[in-house]
Formats: sequence, structure tokens, C-alpha cells
Amino acid sequence: ITEVQRTTVFTTHTPVPAGHDAFPFHLVEKYLHPYWHQLGIDRERFLAFGTHRESWGEVFHMTVLALQMTGHCNGVSKTHGEVSRRMWQHLWPERSLEHVPISSITNGVHTPTWLDPELHRLYDRYLGPDWQKHHDNPAIWLKIHDIPDQELWWARLRLKYQLMHFIRERARQLWREERRDPVQVLASGALLDPEALTIGFARRFATYKRATLLLQNLARLQTILQDRWKPVQVVFAGKAHPADEPGKHLIHQVYTLAKEYGLGGQIVFVEDYDIRVAKFLVRGVDVWLNNPIPPLEASGTSGQKAALNGVPNLSISDGWWWEGYTGGNGWTIGPTNPLVEIESRDVHDADLLYTLLETEIVPLFYQRDSDDVPRGWMRVVKAAIASIAPQFSARRMVKEYIERFYVPAASASSAVITTANGTLPSTSPEID
Ligand SMILES: *Cc1c(COP(=O)(O)O)cnc(C)c1O
Repeated sequence: ITEVQRTTVFTTHTPVPAGHDAFPFHLVEKYLHPYWHQLGIDRERFLAFGTHRESWGEVFHMTVLALQMTGHCNGVSKTHGEVSRRMWQHLWPERSLEHVPISSITNGVHTPTWLDPELHRLYDRYLGPDWQKHHDNPAIWLKIHDIPDQELWWARLRLKYQLMHFIRERARQLWREERRDPVQVLASGALLDPEALTIGFARRFATYKRATLLLQNLARLQTILQDRWKPVQVVFAGKAHPADEPGKHLIHQVYTLAKEYGLGGQIVFVEDYDIRVAKFLVRGVDVWLNNPIPPLEASGTSGQKAALNGVPNLSISDGWWWEGYTGGNGWTIGPTNPLVEIESRDVHDADLLYTLLETEIVPLFYQRDSDDVPRGWMRVVKAAIASIAPQFSARRMVKEYIERFYVPAASASSAVITTANGTLPSTSPEID
């Protein structure tokens, strides 16, 4: 067991119970009984490795098994590490909370995949042609501030026009090829305005992500959306897990509103969310919204993709944003209050969200200079890129896994893995 522990790495990915597999003992017995003979241990010893007590009885729990069998465990953001230590402290009853052996390595996104190619060329010009080879180095990104506001703003506008074009062509396809009802064509984004402040919300429709929080108070939302001089529109996209009925119900609620005449085609739902749709959305909207129930968002990564492309986050302080927010690189919806009742919690959080939109975000976006460039807005855009792109890159993340976990785990192995010159790699130079 100590050999397995020393040489095995485990990453826990979510605090949400549905994300953890657990099986009844009779199934474990049916499929795994040959192993306990092979290992020279009895049934009780084997089952004890993964036994977890739920309110309805005992199960064989894969996370419990993994936590007890691995010497290197992590959550996927600082706050998720903390939440996981609290969740699993009972497995180490003799230890205090901070000594529970679960650390954290925060998720990051693959920069070359998620950065728009034309922005990439713009960054080449200002960050230096080699920037991609060192893109986890924060110092390189300070040069973002050398890009003239107007040049970056025009690049942002172009991405927004590309998104609107993509959405409109999909709407046309529904009309022409699928003969959809005209209301459905409008609900899929045919009336979007490329000049209006556009909020994006695209992710799995798991209930804890609260897709409908923004729709809490429709009258107040409508006032925000339909301001004559400062219009706002919202683009939703996402799928629910096939077995998640409450999640599907949330999609239905969003779609029903997207079809409302009174909302003027300013709330839209883009169907068939996938990586391709995600690429257009994280580049093309103006603000990326995320409002999960804290502390249930382990990390989240779509907001990192958005920031890389100059789209600031508007998010609850949870997951990666808990450590990503610096004060000037986006907006935090909060402070949220975990003690308020469930019904009043959503009212409370939605209220904070509307207030931020009304008093800060919408006015800043529409505050233009004589050349029509929103200088204050561009300050947030640049701060978002410079602070988030290096820190929340997969390059930084993979290096951390290698240095803190993989190399120590490999060195501890009796079957020693070495490179050609006989040493363990300290970091991999080939990471993009
Ligand atoms: C990035 C991405 C996700 C993850 O987004 P979250 O913010 O973590 O929910 C999900 N689906 C697609 C298609 C993505 O590109």
C-alpha cells in the first residue's frame, strides 16, 4: 500500500455529490472478488479501502478509495482544496483541518486553443514573437498595456461581429432547413445587435450553476435590457445531463423567456452548445457571467477562456475566480451570504448582480471618448488579459503537476523512470 500511495496521484474534481461514483457492496463483490485473493487480503480489508457511510447506508466510494490509496491528492482551485479538506477530514480524524492531505492545483486553459488567431497576431506584435513559448510568465503580459485602446477595441468589435454572424447564420439554418417556427428563429438570436452590451452565459445546465439567476426579477432585468441609449442583451447556451431533470427544466425556463415578445429578442438561447459554439462565445461577448451557488464550483474554466480574449468576468467569488479577481480585472458579485435561506439567497444574489450591472458595468461600457472607444472599459479588458492569461494557463498548471506531483511520485517508484541523460525531468520544456 505505501508503494501505491507514494507513486499515485489523485485529483478530485467537484464537491457536488453526483460527481462521485459509489457502488453497493454486492456489485463490488460480484466484479472485484478475484482481486482480494490476488492481493492476499480478505473481503473486509478490501472493502474498508473504499467504505463510505451515506445517510442510507454504506457504499464503496471511489473518491474515498482514491484518497486513501494515493499520496498526492489535490483539488482544482485554492478554494476547492479548502472545501475538499473539510469534506474529507473525517478520513483523517487525528488531523486538524489544515493537515488533511489534499492540496490544490488550479485549473488552467490551453492558450493556443482558446485564443482567437487574430488576437494572437496582435499579441505577437506587442508581446514579442516568442511570447507563446513563455506565456505562463506574468511579466510578458504587462506589455498588453502597450496596445493602443483603439486597436484592441476594434479587435474586440470584430470578434463580436463574428459571433453575431455565427448566431444569425445558425438562426437562418433553423428557418430554412428545419422549418422552425419564426418565434424559435428569433429566440435563437436573429435580432441581436452587435453594438449592444452583450452578456454571455454558457455552460452545463447543472442546477448549482443557477442559469436562471439573472431572470430572477424580470421587471428589473427588462429595464436594464431595454434602456434606449444603453441596451443590453444576453446570450445563453448549454446542455443538461440527460438524467438531470431539474437541469432540463432550467433550459426550458430560459428558452420560454427567449420566446417572449416583451423581451424583444434580447435574451437568446443558442442550441447545441459544444466546443465550437464555446469558441465563438468566449471570444465574442462583452462580459462572461458565472453565478454558481458557492462553494460548489470546483474551478470553472470558461471564464479563463473569455479573459484571455479580452472578455472580463462577472462572477460569484467561487472556484478559480476566488483567486483570479484582483479588483480591477472584472467584477465580483458579492459578498454572498451563505447563511440566508435558499429562497432569499437567490433573491439576494440576483439583487447584487442587477446592482452591479446598473451602477458599474453598463455605464462603464457606454462611456465613450470622441473616437467612440470606451477607455474605462478597456482598462478592465487589459487588466483581465494581463492578470488571467498567464496564471490560468494550462502551461502553468501542467508545470505545477509535474514539479509538485509527477516527479516526486515517479522518483518514489521502485521502477525508476529516467530520461536519456539519466535524470528525472524537472519540468517539460515542450509544453505549449
Ligand atoms: C470550457 C467549457 C466548459 C467548462 O466551462 P465551465 O465554466 O467550467 O462550466 C464546458 N463546456 C464546453 C464546451 C467548454 O468549452
